[in-house]
Amino acid sequence: MNKFRQIKQVINGIPSSDGDGVQLTRLIGSAYLEMLDPFLLFDAFGSDKPQDYIGGFPAHPHRGFETVSYMLAGKMRHKDSVGNEGIIEAGGVQWMTAGKGIIHSEMPEQENGLLSGFQLWVNLPASEKMVEPKYQEKSAEDIPIEYRDNVNSSSGVQLKIIAGKTINGTIGVVENALIDPIYWDISMPGKNEFVDIIPEGYNAFVHVIEGEIEISEANISKGKLAVLDDGNQVKIKSISDSRLLLIAGKPLNEPVARGGPFVMNTREEINQAFSDYRSGRFA
Ligand code: FE
Repeated sequence: MNKFRQIKQVINGIPSSDGDGVQLTRLIGSAYLEMLDPFLLFDAFGSDKPQDYIGGFPAHPHRGFETVSYMLAGKMRHKDSVGNEGIIEAGGVQWMTAGKGIIHSEMPEQENGLLSGFQLWVNLPASEKMVEPKYQEKSAEDIPIEYRDNVNSSSGVQLKIIAGKTINGTIGVVENALIDPIYWDISMPGKNEFVDIIPEGYNAFVHVIEGEIEISEANISKGKLAVLDDGNQVKIKSISDSRLLLIAGKPLNEPVARGGPFVMNTREEINQAFSDYRSGRFA
């Protein structure tokens, strides 16, 4: 039976600053929505004023979860304590498993112009929190694009499939068996409609990048995040030229203890992370 997901909650982001003064909008990980299991944080950043981003995110540690960076415009150079270094360019994604511990930096590779993108934190289950750090890094050319057609013509709806599988069988470039994520960047020209499957029980949200969309007769405008309730399908209508992210994943249903850049299951494990970091036991 088809059950279209309705909107459970619409969230306005909170203007925040992170790293060395990077201006961003926090949409998950704030007082309005502390987390949406397995998603711990979701930030959107975008500015053409260098002072909003030039400080970047200097070296800092992580343990116990994954960080996902998706760039829309501009370039960021990342570098870490296990010897990886590279540049994420527009349309590229970096899915980093911090695991037992990594120290990394993400710095703008530009002194002016537009820099915009997203950062998502994905929790790891207890059994995987202390794995070796690893990366899945993909450029825009690596990410499959699916074009939707109506009966008579091309609808013009376009999906960039970073992770997950669409109803038509397009498979994303990032693999993650733990939460089986959906991460789609969807463009909808004009008034349009799009339907797909989100497995029942998975937590899901949409973030409107441009334009205005409608889900279950509620409108969501640019910049907002809508948490979806449960169901097995999603139907999204665009009111005007729109672009949005649709993100979903299997909840872990485990206790969450957060301490700054560490996310574990218990307070003791957080204390251990701080002590390991202070004594130089991170890579
Ligand atoms: Fe980081």
